[in-house]
Amino acid sequence: MSAQVIDGKAIAANLRAAVAVETRRVVTAHGLVPGLAVVLVGENPASKTYVASKSRALVEAGMRPFDYHLPAATGEGELLGLVNALNADTAVHGILVQLPLPPQINATRIIAAVDPDKDVDGFHPLNAGRLASGLPGLVPCTPLGCIKLAKTVNASLAGMEAVVLGRSNIVGKPLAQLLLAENATVTVAHSRTRDLPGLCRRADLLFAAIGRPEMVRGDWVKPGATVIDVGINRVSDGGKSRIVGDVNFAEAVNVAGAVTPVPGGVGPMTIACLLVNTVRAACMQAGLPAPGV
Ligand code: NAP
Repeated sequence: MSAQVIDGKAIAANLRAAVAVETRRVVTAHGLVPGLAVVLVGENPASKTYVASKSRALVEAGMRPFDYHLPAATGEGELLGLVNALNADTAVHGILVQLPLPPQINATRIIAAVDPDKDVDGFHPLNAGRLASGLPGLVPCTPLGCIKLAKTVNASLAGMEAVVLGRSNIVGKPLAQLLLAENATVTVAHSRTRDLPGLCRRADLLFAAIGRPEMVRGDWVKPGATVIDVGINRVSDGGKSRIVGDVNFAEAVNVAGAVTPVPGGVGPMTIACLLVNTVRAACMQAGLPAPGV
């Protein structure tokens, strides 16, 4: 059996197009141009690439980017000052501080300083609490993208057995909360979990977010399951480097019902969901109804 390969690139392109339609609508009807500030500290090459593609996607969707690139030696006080200024700027509806931050800056303090209404990353403790309590709020982009991908294969996730590998605050935990909200039965696994292969084999929905190249083997996958691979791991292969996921795709594709590739699966959805969160935040701050994306 060969699984359906979930085309994250195409699904993300459709979502971005839908966000662009919503953006045009709020610009035309209300003169509201959603604005996102992206703050990069230092010269991390991967971060620079992410930030550049976020700004490009933002402009394509008709939104206004505010880009800040600060030197690697920036102090925590200086960054907090910028975050506070952006909190007060009414043209800025979303604030994203690209992680990781240099060691002299405490990321937890920076995340907590962002106005929760502008927290398009959904990392602020207030938004994490809202998600855990089933209250409306801004939700982290990567887990949101994972749910949207799973729902392209399964119209309803209700009653499905879901296993989430990984319990980070940015992927595993919020993903588990979103799955609960979809009425799935959720198990969260981590580095201390016993018998991961046996646990994964129970899953109708398997999400891998562990940062371990191709650790999930084909015989961990329940036949017909939906497998969503969040991992982005750079590995060297005969002197060349390439990106692989946390799932052994070549094996999983023979067992699963549907599987995301890496690259081209979850990654493109993360940026598309950032656009969703930005237009949502802008509408929320303007007192407009939530957009239809
Ligand atoms: P993280 O903060 O390092 O968390 C990794 C999680 O995996 C932890 O909960 C850890 O368990 C668990 N884990 C590690 N090794 C394990 C093992 N051998 N067996 C079972 N569990 C194990 O990573 P993250 O930020 O969540 O990211 C996870 C992956 O997703 C990375 O590859 C990252 O690059 C990727 N990612 C992709 C996107 C995207 O847009 N596609 C976005 C974010 C992250 P403990 O808690 O017990 O340590």
